[in-house]
Parts: sequence; structure tokens; C-alpha cells
Amino acid sequence: MSSVTVVDHPLVLHKLTLMRRAETPTAEFRRLLRETSLLLAYEVLRDLPTELVDIETPIAPMRAPALAGKKLCFVSVLRAGHGILDGMLDLVPSARVGHIGLYRDPRTLEAIEYYFKVPDDLSERDVIVVDPMLATANSAIAAVRRLKARGTRSLRHVCLVAAPEGIAAFRTAHPDVPIFTAAIDERLDEHGYIVPGLGDAGDRLFGTR
Ligand code: URA
Repeated sequence: MSSVTVVDHPLVLHKLTLMRRAETPTAEFRRLLRETSLLLAYEVLRDLPTELVDIETPIAPMRAPALAGKKLCFVSVLRAGHGILDGMLDLVPSARVGHIGLYRDPRTLEAIEYYFKVPDDLSERDVIVVDPMLATANSAIAAVRRLKARGTRSLRHVCLVAAPEGIAAFRTAHPDVPIFTAAIDERLDEHGYIVPGLGDAGDRLFGTR
């Protein structure tokens, strides 16, 4: 079974509480999600390999650790994934970026793909899929299935809030893909929204409702 890491750092919890509040305006929500993404990235990328390189400080030469050139790709599930992507790119500006456009059929809640653009060399990269809400997990499952079909071997899924139902479905479909989230909420409602959640992450992020 894939691992589930709940990133429950006090700063993450505090910022998530602010994002959950219905009265939090769009600009603040966007800023908070970006900041929270930095903190999530810290945990998600904790095992990046380093190597010692020779440098000189103003005082003395030394061998100091530096990232060992691991190739990363962030894949944003449109459109709410952008809220996490921006923060991740602040930390790892050299990462490649892919986009997968999926929308939920409001009747069946199935994920329907309308856009797919990723780097060619995914099989050589560690791929981090970002999508704030792991609700039914239909989108996340479909996104990861598409990436695996492209030869991706190393995958992680990053979200902000997960529902127990979504975690169970995702782990069944992709037992090899670790999940990172800031919170696991109570349940899904009959429309597939996470309760208590934070509403529609895309609408909160872009002010579309
Ligand atoms: N997508 C959202 O944006 N919010 C939810 O609660 C569920 C899916």
C-alpha cells in the first residue's frame, strides 16, 4: 500500500485554517496556498539526494552538500493544481512542468480529460503530481494512470486536503504512489465535495464564484 504522509507542521495547520474560512478573499487564499506549498515541498522533497562539492567560503575551502542533479517534473492538474505548482516552482525553479486538464462530470463525478502536455523524458524524472483536493480521487487516479502510460516510474501525489474515500480509492488504484497531504477530512458529500473542506479550490483560487 502507498504511504500517506500528513504534513501537520503548525504553520501548515494555521495557513490551512485561514484557507478554509469562507470569508478569506481570493488574493489571500492564493498567497496562503503558495506559502503552504513551500512547506509541503519541504516534506515531499525531503529525500532528494545530495553530493559533496568543493567550494570556498570567505573564510576557508570546504566540501559542502548540493543537490545531486535529480531531475524533477511537477505535473499540475488543471486548474487548481496551479495554486500548489507556483509555490513548488519557487523552491525548485529548474523543475520541468506538465499539465493535465481534467474536469469532473457533475453527474457521474468521472474525470474527463481535455488537455495533456508533459515533457518527453518523464521516464528519467521524479514526477510530483499536484492537485489541492483529493476528493473522489477520480482525477488523481486518471492523471497518474496517464503518466504511468508515458513511462513514468517515480511518482508522488501532493494535495492540501484529502477525503478518506479518496485516499482509499487512490491507494487501491496506485498502491505504489505515495500521498502527501496537509489534512484528512471527515468525508465527501453527495456532490463529491470534501466536508468540511474549503469549497471548490479552483473557485477559491481564481475568484470564479
Ligand atoms: N474539488 C474541490 O475543489 N473541492 C472539493 O471539496 C472537492 C473537489
